[in-house]
Amino acid sequence: MESYDYIVVGAGSAGAAVAHRLSADPRNKVLLLEAGAASHPWSPIPIGIARLITNPAANWLYSAEPEANTNGRRIPVPRGKLLGGSSSINGMVFVRGQAQDYDTWAQMGNRGWSYQDVLPFFKRMESYAGGGDDTFRGREGPLKVTNPEPRDTFFQTIIAAAGQAGIRHNPDYNGAAQDGIAMSQATILKGRRQSTARCYLDPIRGRQNLRIETRALGEALLFDGKRCTGVRYSIGGERREAAAAREVVVCGGTINSPQLLELSGIGQPERLQALGIEVRQALPGVGENLRDHYAPRTRWLVGKRGITYNDRGRGLGLVYQALRYALFRKGMFANTGAPMRAFVKSREGLEAPDLLLGWSAMLTEPGPKGPRIAKQAGFTCYAHPMRPESKGHIHITAADAHRPPAINFNFLSAPPDAELTVRAIRIARSVMNAPAMAPLQLTEIQPGTDRQTDDEILDWVKGAAETTYHPVGTCKMGSDAMAVVDDQLRVHGIAGLRVADASIMPTLMSGNTNAPSIMIGEKCADMVLKAAA
Ligand SMILES: Cc1cc2nc3c(=O)[nH]c(=O)nc-3n(C[C@H](O)[C@H](O)[C@H](O)COP(=O)(O)OP(=O)(O)OC[C@H]3O[C@@H](n4cnc5c(N)ncnc54)[C@H](O)[C@@H]3O)c2cc1C
Repeated sequence: MESYDYIVVGAGSAGAAVAHRLSADPRNKVLLLEAGAASHPWSPIPIGIARLITNPAANWLYSAEPEANTNGRRIPVPRGKLLGGSSSINGMVFVRGQAQDYDTWAQMGNRGWSYQDVLPFFKRMESYAGGGDDTFRGREGPLKVTNPEPRDTFFQTIIAAAGQAGIRHNPDYNGAAQDGIAMSQATILKGRRQSTARCYLDPIRGRQNLRIETRALGEALLFDGKRCTGVRYSIGGERREAAAAREVVVCGGTINSPQLLELSGIGQPERLQALGIEVRQALPGVGENLRDHYAPRTRWLVGKRGITYNDRGRGLGLVYQALRYALFRKGMFANTGAPMRAFVKSREGLEAPDLLLGWSAMLTEPGPKGPRIAKQAGFTCYAHPMRPESKGHIHITAADAHRPPAINFNFLSAPPDAELTVRAIRIARSVMNAPAMAPLQLTEIQPGTDRQTDDEILDWVKGAAETTYHPVGTCKMGSDAMAVVDDQLRVHGIAGLRVADASIMPTLMSGNTNAPSIMIGEKCADMVLKAAA
């Protein structure tokens, strides 16, 4: 059996950061296992997300079970399956969330997770190229983060309209305060995606004490009693085992981390026994507490020509955009999936925003290889509550690491989520109907002006909404009966085993989840190294 000090399972947003920091000390022998490939040719090119979102070569392509509030639709659950994990296929928008998100985690009893506690890790992980206050921003970390200027007429117009709807322009929503509208900060530098594969793994390929195995699927954890001692994994049908003298860190993400725990006998005893799995540790919370952003995309036509990429990125325009990218790494090919966002309050008097609006710069339609630019000129604006209370679950359906788990979101099962979703759509409409938008000659096509009452809007949401790909929470951190890991990210009841990824988040962030996942990886590595010192 191969032997290491640490084994990290999953080289995604968090796992790449964990492996980077643990292997910085040449005395630590580290094995990093990744189920997916080393890379994909579309990953470095920002617009390549359109070729990755339905691509089995880089994506687990999960889908949720049909449920009542999706009108029986199976909601797609894309997840990155390559080095860098979902950071290698995501929309590249960089959002930390609010200070209050982390303070809430601390108030739930998680020592060391208040915003003041996690801020040093957020700063340590980034090289932020925008302006802003160094109290909040890091300048020397591995992850390159940029802040595009709102140069296009389209974005300038939306900022003006938002101002008329009472939403201020706040270029650094990752700084002192989140509320306001801004261009999305991006993990893009010089037109290239800044995944954790590129930023955390590429620079350390030469480390002799780090072994990276790709196409290596972790199938089960190995134990000596209540101590995790290693991992069984497979490469191309060949079974292997590796021993960890110190610790195993599971970083498989919100879908796969609970899956690996359950396959290894950690979870709800009755469920595991029914599948013939020996129970190693009863933990009823494994796979529970699943949360995500259920986000309807309102759709708008733009009458004025030359404003959106539907006009500027088709036909000869597409050739121009391709050349612009090839020569200068700029333009349509170099953008995030949602280049503008607004963090807004659903009502006066709230301490912090509770709703998100996010704009695209074109209309797309489904194509044979993924979404493609639509003929009609327009854009989408998604609108949703940032901290939904609806909770679902993810569980294995067989004692087989190759079988996808069953995913149930229970979207809109908590009444405030439905109410806030309607409110978010009404605020999106108020921006789009503000006087500054008039020159764009907008027509609302979805939900459509014929849908005005709360019930009519909700009815549309149930048939149209998808997620913004932010599942979290299935190996929740905490000390209550449903917690899976403690505030050091150690699995309750098992020695030598931690989970570090989006699955440990007790609640969903007020924003996107890549930055928080990387921070979790950074913080986990710090705790592991301190424990060993
Ligand atoms: C299409 C899409 C768009 C998104 N857009 C944004 C965005 O613009 N901004 C943002 O902040 N967030 C975005 N997100 C979400 C964000 O990228 C994720 O929340 C974040 O990357 C999760 O990090 P993680 O470490 O928890 O998991 P991941 O990054 O998904 O990493 C898990 C890794 O573990 C590997 N793995 C899993 N199981 C095993 C196993 N058994 N053995 C070996 N390896 C295994 C996986 O292949 C994967 O590489 C998006 C996500 C997607 C899918």
